[in-house]
Amino acid sequence: MKILLKNLTKTYPPRTRKESPVTAVDNFDFEIPDGKLVALLGPSGCGKSTVLNMICGLLEPTSGSIFFGDDDVTDLPPEHRGVGMVFQNYALYPHLTVQQNITFPLENIPKSRRPGKEEMKAKALEVAKLVQIDQLMERKPKEMSGGQQQRVAIARALVKRPGVLLLDEPLSNLDARLRLQTREEIRRIQRETGITTIFVTHDQEEAMSISDMIVVMKEGVLQQIGRPQEVYDCPANLFVAKFLGTPPINVLEGSVREGMLYLGEDPVLKVKGAADQDVIVGIRPEGFIPVPEGESTEGAMKCTLKALEVMGRDVSVVSSHPAAQTETIRSIIRAEDKVDEGLRTVAFRLRPGKVFLFRKETEERLMFEAE
Ligand code: ADP
Ligand code: MG
Repeated sequence: MKILLKNLTKTYPPRTRKESPVTAVDNFDFEIPDGKLVALLGPSGCGKSTVLNMICGLLEPTSGSIFFGDDDVTDLPPEHRGVGMVFQNYALYPHLTVQQNITFPLENIPKSRRPGKEEMKAKALEVAKLVQIDQLMERKPKEMSGGQQQRVAIARALVKRPGVLLLDEPLSNLDARLRLQTREEIRRIQRETGITTIFVTHDQEEAMSISDMIVVMKEGVLQQIGRPQEVYDCPANLFVAKFLGTPPINVLEGSVREGMLYLGEDPVLKVKGAADQDVIVGIRPEGFIPVPEGESTEGAMKCTLKALEVMGRDVSVVSSHPAAQTETIRSIIRAEDKVDEGLRTVAFRLRPGKVFLFRKETEERLMFEAE
């Protein structure tokens, strides 16, 4: 099912006289293609849950509309939207078995259309198999791990065969290993069912690893939509560049003069096409190539070496630079590009595709031609 959001806005009224209204979602206007897994990504409080709750019908938009396929569902109650929803805290009924938890949504169907007991059981077993908990049907929630409980919650969301599956930070309550495993499970289940799925998370790595498309938002405003790699390689602004990637992008103050990028007084990269101005420079950790010992460091970025962290295939070089906004610059280089630990300074040439320029005032990306 394709989902279309048209100028969708939600403003919460002030809760006290001193507060002002909060626009949690500001004029969202985009389409989620059928059968895709889309991550809604942004820091806590940016409006992700508000978007999801409007899509499922628990929350009424202040303005704008929501379409499922060609149908306007904006005024449709949640139970008529064909949406399955999974929350962060599994929200299972503690006194019911797995089987009963999964069939619960079916029990609530009006009697005339409600499936019979045997049919319910068969439907429950089918989704339980899909999420691989069919061995646990008689257990109660407290007799299962967090990961298993979350699978039950997913099975329950799927039992009515929804056209849309909404997941609100479904992995946050799980420990690191289970989180990894469960996110792969969600990916597999989504692929197997082909259900259009929106996955809310504040964890960029989670979003990057499982989704077909990510929607980055900040303070209720859409920042960028695209394939994970596209957004990583071509961030629209400084916020997006900083939000994606581990270790995070390095941010420095710089200036462009006559097609050359300067850090302080040092020219470090040709940036043809960018107009003269002060800029914010973002350099991804993989954008640094150390200048081999003995070679000229002219036109290279000279940093003070602080530490080397060997991580098998790669080496993480921790250094500092006077133009950096942070105390350290972190670069990831290949183990064979040797940097001597005894050195006081280390010089890097920059990979043009890993360097981004941003306008100082607006923090919008400033394009240049890499040579
Ligand atoms: P997220 O899910 O990204 O953490 P939310 O959608 O929960 O963000 O919240 C977005 C903004 O709206 C926040 O500033 C939050 O404080 C505010 N907000 C959320 N729910 C309400 C509410 N019921 N009343 C007033 N403000 C709210
Ligand atoms: Mg939330």
